[in-house]
Amino acid sequence: MNKRQDFKNILNLLLIVFLSTSFVNAQEEGVINKFDKVVIDAGHGGDKPGAVGLKSKEKDITLAVSLKLGKMITEHLKDVEVYYTRVIDKDVELYKRSQIANKIGADLFVSIHCNSSSNKAPKGSETFALGVTKAAQNLEVAKKENKDILLEANYGENYDGFDPNAPENDILFSLFQNAYMEGSLWFADKIQKHLTSNTPVINRGVKQANFVVLLKSAMPSVLVEIGFISNAEEEKYLMSEIGQYEIAASIFQAICEYKNHKDNQKNPILTVEQLIPRNVLDKDKQLKDAQLLAKQKEEERLKQEKQKEQQAQQKRKEENEKGTGIDIVYRVQFASMKNQISTKDKTFEGLEDVWSYEFDGYWKYCAGLFATQKEASNYVQKVRALGHKDAFVVVFQNGKRITFEQVRALEKGKS
Ligand SMILES: [Zn+2]
Repeated sequence: MNKRQDFKNILNLLLIVFLSTSFVNAQEEGVINKFDKVVIDAGHGGDKPGAVGLKSKEKDITLAVSLKLGKMITEHLKDVEVYYTRVIDKDVELYKRSQIANKIGADLFVSIHCNSSSNKAPKGSETFALGVTKAAQNLEVAKKENKDILLEANYGENYDGFDPNAPENDILFSLFQNAYMEGSLWFADKIQKHLTSNTPVINRGVKQANFVVLLKSAMPSVLVEIGFISNAEEEKYLMSEIGQYEIAASIFQAICEYKNHKDNQKNPILTVEQLIPRNVLDKDKQLKDAQLLAKQKEEERLKQEKQKEQQAQQKRKEENEKGTGIDIVYRVQFASMKNQISTKDKTFEGLEDVWSYEFDGYWKYCAGLFATQKEASNYVQKVRALGHKDAFVVVFQNGKRITFEQVRALEKGKS
């Protein structure tokens, strides 16, 4: 018999056991099983880095969050013992992780991971319980997390010929998960709730898929994808002290709620501020204050710039009105072309009050608007400096070009 056949036989046997016993209810009917042992599983480790971001590796982030979470439980949930699958950067085979949990008779298993995608855009957190899925996205996550076993020596033996992608696994998974599914989903939902209210990471929801690391754990078990290491903004958060603490605090609150629910207790759900060390909160506050100040300064600068522009516009308008008051205005003509183009064209960058008029089948372009020839003459220098070497002063009466002689004659007439 080959391995595959072996595996199928095991499945059949399990199916019979499942159908003929109260296996599913065994836990509920047993003696009161107080929640007092939790296993925290930092994803990957050693020569299996998990997902790799621009600046970080999944195995380092999962370990940092796991240790912070463990410390919070030890400090604040005195009657819950914390077990870790690893506390240093080392590889632990996936089957051993649930074995550790089963051996000590843990009441809850939390596996911590980071998501990744070849596309840099996806972000958010999601929590998985074991389960059959046809959703491509869920399958993709499970496949990525399961692929570590392919790097393990003797993986065929340790996983009973398990093939992460074979369809018959669904049956096996559905057998193991049923007894604990309700608890796992309840807990997963609380994790997502707290992550969403405590962190900037968006909620991708509670999902189900087949994860090898949860496969044989005999207790409610979840796998949390705390964020996308492949998204630059999220990676930065996952790498930060405050980010890791906020995530750990969120999972802690979910564990606390789960304990209250299961043991019918009323342990206070400590706030993030109560759970995170003072110096970390202070440092974060300083950083956020500095960022806020820089933002306010920038807004103030933009506001002043806008005000200045409005004042300048008002001044030009007044000058314009003054100019038309005596019917005569001076402008600086700097270009002539066959076609009319927008006065907002890039060619006119740096010029003020650009204006065009048609003359002899050509469009003439002017800049500036002045009440006196002297002011216009001063402006000519500026226009020339902008590259319009042939700029010169022209004069208009009621929008119609006139000569300087005509102006002099008009002025004579006035006086
Ligand atoms: Zn992972």
